[in-house]
Amino acid sequence: MTYDFSRHDGLYLRQTLFDKARRIVVKVGSAVLTGDHGIAEEVIENIAREIAFLHDSGRQVILVSSGAVAAGRARIKFHNAGNELSIKEKQALAAIGQSNLMQIYDRVFSALGQTSAQVLLTHKDLAVRRRYLNARNTLFALFEFGAIPIINENDTVSVAELRFGDNDMLGAHICNLIEADMFICLTDVVGLYTGNPSTDPDARPIYTVDEITAEIEAMVSHSKSKLGTGGMQSKLRAAKLVSAGGGSSFIGPGREPEVLKKLFSGEMIGTFFLPHKERISGRKRWIATVLKPQGSLVLDEGACRALVERNRSLLPSGILKVEGVFGVGDAVHCARRNGEKIAVGLINYSSVDINKIRGYHSREIQRILGYCDSEEVMHRDNIVIL
Ligand code: GLU
Repeated sequence: MTYDFSRHDGLYLRQTLFDKARRIVVKVGSAVLTGDHGIAEEVIENIAREIAFLHDSGRQVILVSSGAVAAGRARIKFHNAGNELSIKEKQALAAIGQSNLMQIYDRVFSALGQTSAQVLLTHKDLAVRRRYLNARNTLFALFEFGAIPIINENDTVSVAELRFGDNDMLGAHICNLIEADMFICLTDVVGLYTGNPSTDPDARPIYTVDEITAEIEAMVSHSKSKLGTGGMQSKLRAAKLVSAGGGSSFIGPGREPEVLKKLFSGEMIGTFFLPHKERISGRKRWIATVLKPQGSLVLDEGACRALVERNRSLLPSGILKVEGVFGVGDAVHCARRNGEKIAVGLINYSSVDINKIRGYHSREIQRILGYCDSEEVMHRDNIVIL
C-alpha cells in the first residue's frame, strides 16, 4: 500500500489508512473478555459481530485473543486467595480455558455464518525462518478458505525463553508476519491522553500519533491512571514493532459498542499510530522484528559510517568489543561506543571467535581461527539499520 505523505495531516491520513486497510489483526485482551464470572459471552458476541463486519467487507482479518487462563480459572473455580499463579498453574489453567474459549468462539462465529480456526504459537515458531514461513503460509491458506484465524500463545508449552512476552507482542509479530496493514488493540482503556484524565482537567485525548517518541513513552510511564500500567507500555512497544514493519496501530476501548464500525466510519475514538514511511523487506523484517538479539558488537566510528552511510558489510577490523555470548546465525546488535544501537544483523562467527579476530584485517581470519567461512562478520544482506 502506498500513502500520500505529502498531504500529511493526521486526520486525512488516519481515514485514508482505515479506508485502505485490507489485512487487519485485531487483538482483544483478557480484561475486555472477562467479567466477574469468567468469560463474558456477550462481549465475545459483540467482538465476533465486529470481526464478521470487517470480514464481510472483503478484508482479511485475524483475531488474537487472550482469555485462556481467565477462562480456565473460572471453569474449575480456581481461587488461590489472591496469590500470584505459578507458571505450572497458569499453563494448566490455559489448557483448560483455551478449549472453553474456542468452543465459545466457534459457536458465536458459526451463528454469524463464519468459520473460525484455532492457531496456537510460541515465539520459537517464528524465530526459525522455515517455521516462520510455514506459519505465514498456513495463515494465508486459512484466508483462502475464508476462515477467521483466532490466535493465542501456546501457553501450555511456553516457558520464559519461548514466550512472546504477552499477547500485545504476539499480535504485533503476527501483524509483521502477514504484512498486515493495521493492528487494532482492543483493551480496557479509551486511548492515550496528554495527562491523567482523572486528576488533570486539562488532559486531552491524543487521536493520532505520528511517531512514538521518548515524549510519548514518558507520558505513559509517568501517568498514574490505568493508562500508566505496564499494560499500556507493552501496547506502545507493540505499536512500535508494527510501525517498524510498516503497519499502523490503533489502541482503543474494547467494550465500546460497535467500536470497529465506528472506527472504520471515521469516528474519532482511541489513539491511532501512523506507520513508518518505508516497509522493510520480508527477510530483513524477520531479522529486525522477530529475532531476539543475543549480544552486541561495539564498533569504531569508521565501521559505524560504513554500515549506516554506505550500506557495507561488517568486517572484523572495525569491532572494538564483544558483549554477550552468541553462536553463528544468532541476531546481534551493532552499537556505537556510547551504547547507541545502530543496527541488528545475523552473525557469521561466534562471540568466542569474534573476540579473537576483532581489530584484525579479514585476511588474518584463516591464520587466527584456522578456518575462514566468510570475510565478513555480518553480511550487508543480513544487516538492518535501526
Ligand atoms: N495467553 C494468555 C491467555 O490466553 C494471555 C496473555 C496476555 O494477555 O498477554 O490467558
